[in-house]
Amino acid sequence: MIRRNRNAKIIATLGPSSSDPQNLEALFRAGADVFRLNFSHGEHADHQQRLFNIRQLERQVNRPIAILLDLQGPKLRVGKLRDGEVELLPGKAFRLDLSEEPGDEHRAPLPHPEIFAALKPGMTILLDDGKLRLSVKDCGPDFAETEIMAGGPLRDRKGVNVPGAVLPISPLTPKDREDLEFGLDLGVDWVALSFVQRPEDIAEVRQIVDDRAAIMAKIEKPAAIDCLDALVELCDGVMVARGDLGVEMPPEEVPGLQKTIIQTCREAGTPVVVATQMLESMIDVPAPTRAEASDVATAVYDGADAVMLSAETAVGHYPVEAVTMMERIITSTEHAHYYRNILHAHPSAPDATAADAISAASAQVAHTLSAAAIVCYTMSGSTALRAARERPDASILVLTNKRDTAQRLALLWGAHCVHTADVSSTQEMAEKACRIAAQEGYAKAGDKLVVMAGVPFGTPGTTNLLRIATVG
Ligand code: PGA
Ligand code: MN
Repeated sequence: MIRRNRNAKIIATLGPSSSDPQNLEALFRAGADVFRLNFSHGEHADHQQRLFNIRQLERQVNRPIAILLDLQGPKLRVGKLRDGEVELLPGKAFRLDLSEEPGDEHRAPLPHPEIFAALKPGMTILLDDGKLRLSVKDCGPDFAETEIMAGGPLRDRKGVNVPGAVLPISPLTPKDREDLEFGLDLGVDWVALSFVQRPEDIAEVRQIVDDRAAIMAKIEKPAAIDCLDALVELCDGVMVARGDLGVEMPPEEVPGLQKTIIQTCREAGTPVVVATQMLESMIDVPAPTRAEASDVATAVYDGADAVMLSAETAVGHYPVEAVTMMERIITSTEHAHYYRNILHAHPSAPDATAADAISAASAQVAHTLSAAAIVCYTMSGSTALRAARERPDASILVLTNKRDTAQRLALLWGAHCVHTADVSSTQEMAEKACRIAAQEGYAKAGDKLVVMAGVPFGTPGTTNLLRIATVG
């Protein structure tokens, strides 16, 4: 029996530091609920082996684990430079164009016509995660004349960001399409889409993915912020991708945007993840800075469904320590004095649906009776999403006859998922809820449970029943 004593979930990115079965098990036992396969790095064979190892671990520990495939997306890069590196001096002119001639201190190739098409004089071009900054003076369909505003060394193939522009590019490159088919065939639970700009981007991916996986939109471009409501409506989950977001937008705006994105998602009942640099210093040392501990706590107070580790677990020296530390920060924060007050600072009314009425009532009843858990019978998982949207005091025990649903919802705030056969009567429903709650360590004799389900049983989308059961 393995149960977590916290609501916020932990996502651990896999890489060379964390892929063999022993490492995976150590990360899971330390608290990782979701494993992220980052397709910006690694070969298909590496990811396949990791996925196989995760599914094996899942059977061994008998707990559903979510696997998140993160697509690289259209990461833009400068072309080749003569000698591999040049020094850009502030105040000097610098030209970008489509010529394949290797670059020097006066010009560089930028093999992306779509960037030139979107440029206007006055726009800023960022190179190498924003370390270098160019201001566009003049431009055409195949060139841009710029002034170097912030200089420094520029190396081959460094990343390019154009913060102000909505680029007419699909969020799926040919590599992404291959990676996606590969991952879907292997049975990943979530697909994360990088550099989403428009609602149509989600629609395009949905056509391919269909219901084979849930879709997560990574919010890392200003254009995505501009259509946030529509994106949150269309996707199944959202990531506050603070790495690229803090390059595309001024870093001082990232904390406020984090709050806005999380609040928008919580109102919609869409799971939301806070990602990047959460325990960055633990890549090299076994303890976080106080500022990092505080950053994880902020995401927990904001009510995020999950917090994510990237390089800390993928290539860091202390992957298990990083997960352990994250677990300790979450647990401590969720027991802190003001946690509930802050978590519920911006309540939003339930929708006028039976599922929301039952969800809100369940949270209320569980609070009044100090119930040990809310037990939620669900097939598609949508009832569990609505139950979690209430951010109730009691743990949410999700019982589902669909393995996919149990795996996907490993990401969901407060949810402990169990894959189990459906029930056929209200008596069986209550008995099974009590039995599983006891088995899973959520209740003991005499405890009360709040059970939500839909009658007739076995018909999706019928949540209409709330029952109080006492564990015998
Ligand atoms: P990445 O996404 O790690 O794939 O770039 C997260 C981020 O940008 O924060
Ligand atoms: Mn990113």
